[in-house]
Amino acid sequence: MGIVMKGADVAAAMKERLVKKTERLKEQGILPCLGIVRVGARPDDLAYERGARKRMEGIGIGCQVTELPEDITQEEFEKEFCRVNDNPDIHGILLFRPLPAHLDEEPVTEMIHPMKDVDGMSPVNIAKVFTGDETGYAPCTPEAVMEMMDYYKIDLRGKRVTVIGRSMVVGKPLSMLLLKRHATITVCHTRTEELERTCREAEVLVAAAGKAKMVSGGMVGDGAVVVDVGINVDAQGSLCGDVDYDAVQDKASYISPVPRGVGSVTSSVLAKHVVRGAAYLSGSR
Ligand code: NAD
Repeated sequence: MGIVMKGADVAAAMKERLVKKTERLKEQGILPCLGIVRVGARPDDLAYERGARKRMEGIGIGCQVTELPEDITQEEFEKEFCRVNDNPDIHGILLFRPLPAHLDEEPVTEMIHPMKDVDGMSPVNIAKVFTGDETGYAPCTPEAVMEMMDYYKIDLRGKRVTVIGRSMVVGKPLSMLLLKRHATITVCHTRTEELERTCREAEVLVAAAGKAKMVSGGMVGDGAVVVDVGINVDAQGSLCGDVDYDAVQDKASYISPVPRGVGSVTSSVLAKHVVRGAAYLSGSR
């Protein structure tokens, strides 16, 4: 039976470090603060927002939410975003995406201050992830996967790592972060031939496809590390990952569950970025 990679344990270790850093900043009169920009009130966004607020509060980070109407015009949206971006009391911005279809996110991803871009959506931070420059911010979810790997001391150097999914929020940036650690990466997607074999040969398998329980027992090699990023609802209406956990847990050496896996670490990475942003923007490094 594989060792369960518990998101809560990873988050607790991160919290301990972040509380200390936040206290040091507060001694210098700096209160790290996250600005959340939300258009409309999608249940998923609200759930993540609640979790993020709780996480920030637990660490001592402030949180300001800007809620905008679903039918806001592009011009108004950009104006409101600009206000948050220019607010010196806000050190990091989380914009919930996707935006409603009539809004274009590109102008704000271009205008966001790169050190406030705590979810790594601006071209500057994307470029840094792809060039291996660690002075920027990677998107929170791929970095949460790396935090899990580090906490459980997974050796990535030279290892065969397969990532299922090539999105700009998870699969692609994650592949770059893994590459930075000298892993040998194979990125799979919907047109990959021999997906099963590629997964089975991996020493580390990361699933980020968004397909409930698509990774079967036969797709996992003996002793593989299996990290599940997917968040799906199964036929019974329960939350589940991309990995068929029951079928895989006996084959894996380490396995992350859903829920209580990677998803529990994402907001801790967000907090880490806000604290870093606060230190940088206030000149206290
Ligand atoms: P996406 O739909 O943008 O991308 C999915 C990727 O998986 C695509 O590149 C696609 O080619 C690939 N894919 C889909 N089905 C496949 C299949 N059958 N075989 C091989 N490849 C396949 O999704 P995303 O935004 O990257 O998110 C992926 C999953 O991760 C979703 O379940 C999402 O809910 C979850 N997610 C979790 C967190 C978190 O905090 N844990 C954060 C973001 C996303």
